[in-house]
Amino acid sequence: MANILQNRRQFLTKSGKAGIALATMPLFSKIAPSNLFVISDFQQQPLPYAYNALEPFIDALTMEIHYTKHAAGYTKNLADACIAEKVNTTATNLSTLLNTISNYSVKMRNNAGGHYNHELFWQLMKPAPTNNPTGPLAAAIEKAFGSFTNFKAAFSDSAKTRFGSGWAWLIIKNDGELAICSTPNQDNPLMDIAETKGFPLIGLDVWEHAYYLKYQNKRPDYINNWWNLVNWDFVQNRYALAIQK
Ligand code: MN
Repeated sequence: MANILQNRRQFLTKSGKAGIALATMPLFSKIAPSNLFVISDFQQQPLPYAYNALEPFIDALTMEIHYTKHAAGYTKNLADACIAEKVNTTATNLSTLLNTISNYSVKMRNNAGGHYNHELFWQLMKPAPTNNPTGPLAAAIEKAFGSFTNFKAAFSDSAKTRFGSGWAWLIIKNDGELAICSTPNQDNPLMDIAETKGFPLIGLDVWEHAYYLKYQNKRPDYINNWWNLVNWDFVQNRYALAIQK
């Protein structure tokens, strides 16, 4: 938490001008990923655990290929697209880019989404988490879905039924309520082209590259096991930062 707040201060210090523009944007656009991911919007951050740390639920080889090949590729291609399309990555935050993604190429859309989605995905997992959500997040989940059990069932269903490659999401909509949705490919709910828009609290990668080596065609087994890895402390901090006015 100290790191998150420290980076938030650093972000605010170096983004005075951007802050004026951000003040006119929708509520959750004001939150830069740097507040929540620690450090930079446009660079791949170190994996917060070893490749084998999420076993037996996600195997080491899948993690290594996923992080060093797939996710690193999105980050590299995002950098290339930013150069080609004249996006100044030191003056722009990634959320703002995603909020206006319809102004850019398909390459930018796929790779800005791919980079953001994976940076979030690594952070929201950890080995052997010990708690379910508590406090304001737990209350918001109960309010929106009736119970934590109902929420897990509805989210899992969204992930299992996403046709082809994509992501399932728990989001805060602009009215402040929680919702579940899914997106195709590397789209995400921050994008102006998204069918359901909001601020992503949790994203679950259901591309085959996330599970195929261990689970082959059995996506539901991967999803059911993935709940054993959710870092609810991280998600709760993200929720607390997102709802502060
Ligand atoms: Mn992936």
